[in-house]
Amino acid sequence: KKAVVIGSGLGGLLTAAQLAKDGWSVEVYERLSLIGGRFANIEYNGYQMSTGALHMVPHGIKGPLATMLRELGADFDIVQSDPMAIVRMPKDLSQTNYKDGFEDISYLDFKKHLTSKNKVMMVLLTLGFKVGLIRPKKTGFKTWYSKYIQDDRIDRCADSFAGWALSTTADEVTTREMFEIFHNVYRYGGPGILVGGCQTVIDELVRIISSYGGTITTDTEVTKIIVKDCKATGVVAGGKEIAADLVISDIGHKEAWEICTIDGVEGECASHVLALSSSVFKDYEEKLDAMKPSAGLKICFASDERILPEGCSLMLTPYSNRINGLNEVTNADPGLAPPGKHLVMCHQRTALDRLSEIDEEIELGLQDVKDMFPDKNIEILMVQVHHGRWPVNRAFSGTDFGNKTPVSNLLVVGDGAKGEGGIEIEGITLGVRDAMKIIRD
Ligand code: FAD
Repeated sequence: KKAVVIGSGLGGLLTAAQLAKDGWSVEVYERLSLIGGRFANIEYNGYQMSTGALHMVPHGIKGPLATMLRELGADFDIVQSDPMAIVRMPKDLSQTNYKDGFEDISYLDFKKHLTSKNKVMMVLLTLGFKVGLIRPKKTGFKTWYSKYIQDDRIDRCADSFAGWALSTTADEVTTREMFEIFHNVYRYGGPGILVGGCQTVIDELVRIISSYGGTITTDTEVTKIIVKDCKATGVVAGGKEIAADLVISDIGHKEAWEICTIDGVEGECASHVLALSSSVFKDYEEKLDAMKPSAGLKICFASDERILPEGCSLMLTPYSNRINGLNEVTNADPGLAPPGKHLVMCHQRTALDRLSEIDEEIELGLQDVKDMFPDKNIEILMVQVHHGRWPVNRAFSGTDFGNKTPVSNLLVVGDGAKGEGGIEIEGITLGVRDAMKIIRD
């Protein structure tokens, strides 16, 4: 049986590797000359930066991605952040910025800064959720907890975590999803950095796919998904028609739907025909309309000195103007920078209505770097803006709606089809696991 995978991002390659291992004949088509999508390294003057990810695996060595990679026989190494995270607090807690000094504390010590009443409330809420007394659903996380706890420090930390991990505010994520995320942190553990960066995983997946006879063709855009009688029967890639028993889209639900050619009718017209023919298609299109990509801005800089304690690669920065958090990736793998240099990748969530003022957002981020590291010799290496069709996340966490499409034999993987409670690539892995279950069943 033959499967065609559209796009060579992490979701596409993980699915291709599993299918190839299961005995499918697999062909991956990638429109760029680069393999790996938003999970590939970009080398610049000896620094290993990336097309997207901060080389970070949210649940490290015990998480879903690491587990799936081991099952596939991949060779990789992840260095856990220890402590899991450092939080930068203002020295004087009455201040709301770092200009008058700061203190770096372990995330475990954050609770020391809370009032006794709020400490007790946090314990009660967590216990209530765990034993099933609290069943929060679609309410925004901040809206929900603010009914019980009002504390600017918690608000800032919640936004900092959501911004760094999901590129959203704490209120743009449902309470249910946030609790699932916390549950997964508890279950699998905290983040780690990939030795060699994202590219290690991509290179290994390419090796595994090839070892089972699969192929990856770059510089070849898929322009059509051919659908006959509501069944995907192949694609048009690089101008050629390719028949397939299964089509996997790693380009998102919306993008795949846009290129479906249904019984010879293309694009919007096709969806119109389908929308008329069944309420299933209408439901699907409504869900597509509700799905929003999250945007973000990444600043990579080099430092002559280490900025985080040895062993720790993550810092949350709740009191900066824009930057939510940063990864000092060379604390895990010094080989990601030239000898004696340190590589830091900062992430800031960007509100969709601020994309038109992106130069100001960049300036605010750069100013944060200056305020947070006033005494360090820093060289800005790269600033990247991620939005639209190269976003941080194709769907705000918690708004993903699975792998299935109204067309049989067409499944979606990647960050538009993440599994519940899965931060970024961990969510992609959970989504791939679900897709494989559908295929194998
Ligand atoms: P993509 O990587 O988008 O791959 C899709 C591929 O399909 C692309 O290569 C594209 O060129 C190709 N394509 C598109 N259209 C076509 C077509 N018609 N025909 C053929 N090919 C096509 N996650 C983490 O877990 N840890 C992090 O540290 C982290 N940090 C991040 C920081 C930033 C700034 C960003 C942007 C993302 C970050 N993420 C992180 C998220 C993570 O990088 C992405 O979720 C993940 O890489 C997305 O993989 P994907 O398979 O969904 O799709």
